[in-house]
Amino acid sequence: MASRAALLSTKNPSCPRLSAFSSSLPKPPHRLLFFPSPPPCRLRRLFSPLLSYNLHRSPAASMASAASYEKELAAAKKAASVAARLCQTVQKALVQSDVQSKSDKSPVTVADYGSQALVSLVLKTELPSESFSLVAEEDSGDLRKDGAQETLRRITELVNNTLSIDGTYNITLSEEDVLVAIDSGKSEGGPNGRHWVLDPIDGTKGFLRGDQYAIALALLDGGRVVLGVLACPNLPLTSIAIPDEHSLQKQVGCLFSAKIGDGAFMQSLNGSSPTKIHVSAIENSEDASFFESFEAAHSMHDLSSVIAEKLGVRAPPVRIDSQAKYGALARGDGAIYLRFPHKGYREKIWDHAAGYIVVTEAGGVATDAAGNNLDFSKGRYLDLDTGIIVTNKKLMPALLKAVQDAVKEKSQSASLL
Ligand code: AMP
Ligand code: MG
Repeated sequence: MASRAALLSTKNPSCPRLSAFSSSLPKPPHRLLFFPSPPPCRLRRLFSPLLSYNLHRSPAASMASAASYEKELAAAKKAASVAARLCQTVQKALVQSDVQSKSDKSPVTVADYGSQALVSLVLKTELPSESFSLVAEEDSGDLRKDGAQETLRRITELVNNTLSIDGTYNITLSEEDVLVAIDSGKSEGGPNGRHWVLDPIDGTKGFLRGDQYAIALALLDGGRVVLGVLACPNLPLTSIAIPDEHSLQKQVGCLFSAKIGDGAFMQSLNGSSPTKIHVSAIENSEDASFFESFEAAHSMHDLSSVIAEKLGVRAPPVRIDSQAKYGALARGDGAIYLRFPHKGYREKIWDHAAGYIVVTEAGGVATDAAGNNLDFSKGRYLDLDTGIIVTNKKLMPALLKAVQDAVKEKSQSASLL
């Protein structure tokens, strides 16, 4: 049976359904606006290195003042939505460009840095009284090198253009402001205090292909993930489990959000009101379908297929890029997510923190392949046994057994070679 990966490719000519999704993305601006004026003093203050430094509260103080993380969640949703708009502009231009420029990595570079700068800016602007620590993928080192001036100019232009279109903030960033905003992401995280965790574009390979990607933002407090937001600009608002007849008309652009103890929600990136979501209630693994990475280099597809066989799963794998998988799982599009990186790869916290809280608040369970909880308090990396598995509470025991049997068989056959 053909993999659903093909069906989820927005660029696959044999799949006109999702090709149409990319044309339903919001239109890019007709022209890029450039603001040469210096940024206002308030902005300079926001990015003052003194304020950017990690003024950690003690865990106890931090938890005591946690309240309900209401305003932090609102700020996170705003930040991810604004960053998503920038990414959509870049991806739209990329999808329309010729083959040669599609193999060029610079669009993703520009969108990655631009997204990180915007998230940093929005969080600091929305939460001015809070200390700020951001663990994120990018820093400005390469952008400060000779030869990067044009890239920095393009990023700054895109950031300012996106802010202008959004209209919420009457601010204009200089190139130096953009560099400083990007460098807010140098924090190491850890078990104490609050740390924002950001993947400015999760699934860069999917982004370049014109497929799925996500802006993934979470907040750690005392080492626990307390809220998370996933902006998935190309994910259909309705289930991707069964491609339907009318999928040409499917609207795309989902914003998933979750706050500890409060459940998980989904809304349109265009601003519908949030609706509560739940993981699939499937109890019989034969009826389950499973998600995995589109890229075989990111997860061992052969191992997943052995696990699926052990569980009696009949449906083909649904292969999509990024933490959009966690979002789709959280709303019940499929019942299982399997991720088994090849030997030696270390998972980063920004690749899972937001997805983790969205799916667990939707009633799911996420563990490593040995059944251990995921621990986000160890710094920039997740220390894991073999891989990550996610499903509902009913299916987890059977899934864990199938995973452990498959992993054992794989290592036994490897030792025979
Ligand atoms: P996915 O689209 O789910 O495959 O995950 C995308 C993320 O995988 C990227 O954002 C990378 O951080 C991460 N990644 C990059 N290289 C690898 C690798 N060799 N194995 C596992 N994950 C990777
Ligand atoms: Mg990533």
